[in-house]
Amino acid sequence: MMVNNMAKKSVKIPSKLLSAALAAAVDGVVIAEKSGSDFLIIYTNPAFEKITGYSQEEVLGKDCRMLNQNARDQDAIATIRKALREQQPCHVTLLNHRKNGDAFWNELSLSPVFSDEGELTHYIGVQKDATERVNQRKKIEEMATKDHLTKLPNRRYYNEEISQLWGVHQRLQATIAFAFIDIDEFKKYNDNYGHLEGDKALKAVAKKVSERFVRSGDLVARFGGEEFVIVTTLDSDPDNFIEALDELRQSILDLKIENKYSEVSPYITVSIGVFYGVPRKNSRPSDFVDLADSAMYEAKRSGKNQVKVVNNVENGAFKPAS
Ligand code: GH3
Ligand code: MG
Ligand code: MG
Repeated sequence: MMVNNMAKKSVKIPSKLLSAALAAAVDGVVIAEKSGSDFLIIYTNPAFEKITGYSQEEVLGKDCRMLNQNARDQDAIATIRKALREQQPCHVTLLNHRKNGDAFWNELSLSPVFSDEGELTHYIGVQKDATERVNQRKKIEEMATKDHLTKLPNRRYYNEEISQLWGVHQRLQATIAFAFIDIDEFKKYNDNYGHLEGDKALKAVAKKVSERFVRSGDLVARFGGEEFVIVTTLDSDPDNFIEALDELRQSILDLKIENKYSEVSPYITVSIGVFYGVPRKNSRPSDFVDLADSAMYEAKRSGKNQVKVVNNVENGAFKPAS
């Protein structure tokens, strides 16, 4: 009986003990007091200092917004703003910066505190440094979208990216270009030098592809066994892109990876099929598979070790580039 009665009573914990508990917490704690439309920081615990690099003296009296100054995650910032406006709690993970400029993932919970009269008086922020967890997750995601052998993005990544890329070009009626790269006579290479050597050659070719084309804006992926794809926006003369592809073709030949039994060259070579155009409304990226085939077929039929452009893109998916 007595125990029950005691449990019902709210336990008064001395404020000294509460302070000690906050100081011992591994999560960063910030208390901010409402002042007009601002929330001014009135308390931070040692863990906050450890995570952010800001000492209590540096942040006391400042508005909470200073902590998110360099955060660029607009979605998370919008969520926080909305919660503050509506006097609601919220939970976000956003990229913040420590005092020294280093970025860290901040898993942040904000809870409003109300007076007995129901007036919002404070917000309490509890934050965790989630950098390690987020990086771990990113690593796993990266593993799922990266080809293990060549370290290039894989077909799955390509599938994920291409819809968006296609959509943008469709909406803006911009010219999109595809280049398909296929190693010539690769079956013979495998047959003569073994699969392991084949893997090495694939890696060397992939390295050349990525050196030349993995820059912002270009989608580069291992499309299949010994095939790679490059997708790019053509905002300048198509000849520049075609020239760059021919330089890539030459640079792969210059690797001088012996392929004795190839009928094309004593070394490993590639054929490259290119096509470009403006995606028609209602077309889908998968509509171009025939074009990829015909461009590649042209390059192979004309003797391999060359770049062939399919100019006539008057099929269902494309309008010719103007
Ligand atoms: P073509 O010049 O017409 O392209 O002839 P090809 O021999 O290259 O074409 P084919 O499609 O007949 O053969 C492709 C070969 O690529 C078959 C397969 O053994 C090889 N290959 C595909 N993926 C890998 C891989 O991951 N490692 C190795 N070593 N070989 C691969
Ligand atoms: Mg092939
Ligand atoms: Mg081949």
